[in-house]
Amino acid sequence: MSDPFFHPVSGFDLPRFAGVPTFMRLPYVPNGHERFGDVQIGLIGVPWDSGTTNRPGPRHGPRQLRDASTMIRAQHAISGARPFEAANCADLGDVGPNPADIIDSMERITAFYDAALAAGITPLTAGGDHLTSLPVLRSLAKVHGPMGMVHFDSHTDLMNSYFGGTIYTHGTPFRRAVEEGLLDPKRVVQIGIRGTMYDTEDRDFAAANGIRLILIEEFHARGVEDVMAEARAIAGSGKTYVSYDIDFVDPTFAPGTGTPEVGGPNSYQAIQVCRELAGLNIIGADMVEVSPPFDASGGTAFLGASILFELLCVMTGQSGD
Ligand code: MN
Ligand code: MN
Repeated sequence: MSDPFFHPVSGFDLPRFAGVPTFMRLPYVPNGHERFGDVQIGLIGVPWDSGTTNRPGPRHGPRQLRDASTMIRAQHAISGARPFEAANCADLGDVGPNPADIIDSMERITAFYDAALAAGITPLTAGGDHLTSLPVLRSLAKVHGPMGMVHFDSHTDLMNSYFGGTIYTHGTPFRRAVEEGLLDPKRVVQIGIRGTMYDTEDRDFAAANGIRLILIEEFHARGVEDVMAEARAIAGSGKTYVSYDIDFVDPTFAPGTGTPEVGGPNSYQAIQVCRELAGLNIIGADMVEVSPPFDASGGTAFLGASILFELLCVMTGQSGD
C-alpha cells in the first residue's frame, strides 16, 4: 500500500472539473519538495515540439493531458488494479524547455531526468513531440545501459536527417539512440508502421541493425495478442523502454496529432496493446505527439490520458487484463 499522501484526489471529494489539474489528480511534487525522494513513479510533462517537421502543437500536450487525465479514476476496469496504491505516484511538473534552441532543450530535459533517476524515480513522460524521447533515453542509459524498446507509432523515426543535414528532429530520435548506444537494436520492436514513405532509408537502417518492424498489415492480420507476444519475446527480461506516439492510433480516434496516417488501430486496440506489456521490465515510458490545436473534440488527449493510465498499471507491476 502506497503512502496516502500520494493518492489522487477523488471525484467523490472534489468534482473533477474543480481544483488545479495535475496528472491524474496526483500531488505536485517537484524536485526540491520534501517528499521528492519518496516518489516511485513520476509523471513528467515535456512541453516541447521544436523537433516537429510538419504541423506543430505538442508543446501544448502536457497541459491538455493533465486536464483530460482528471477523468481517470483509481481502479482499472478489467483487472481491478489500483496503481496509485501499488506505488507512490506524483506529478513532478514540467521540464522548462528553450523553444528557440534544440540542443539546449535536450540538455535541460536530460538534466531534469538525471535528478529524478538519482532519487530512484521511474519516469512516465507526457510529451512533447517524439524528439523528446532522445534526451530521456540519454538519461536512462546512464543508469540502465543499452535498453530494449517497445515502440508504438505509424513511423519508424529512424531517418538520418532533414533539410540538408539537421540530425535532431522528431523523425530521427531512435536512429540517434541506436548510434549513441542507448538502445540495443536487437531488443527493439516498432509496431504499427504505415503511410507513404520518402524512401527506404529508415527501413534499411532497421534491417541492418536487427530492429524488428511490425507493419500495420501484419498487425491487423495477426491481431493484438499474437503481435504483443512477439514484442514481449523481443524485449525479453532485460530493461525495456516503452515509447508511444499517439499517431499509432487511427486518426478517426486520434486526429489531434501532427502527422496522422490512416488505417491504424482503433482506440480499444490502443489500450489493449498496453495491457499486453505486463510482465516486461519497464524502466520508463512516454506518450508523445498529442497536439491540442488539432484536437478539436479533446478526444485525442483523453485517449492519451487513458493510455498513460494503462502504462502506469503495467509499470506498477499490475496486469491490465
Ligand atoms: Mn513518432
Ligand atoms: Mn509518428
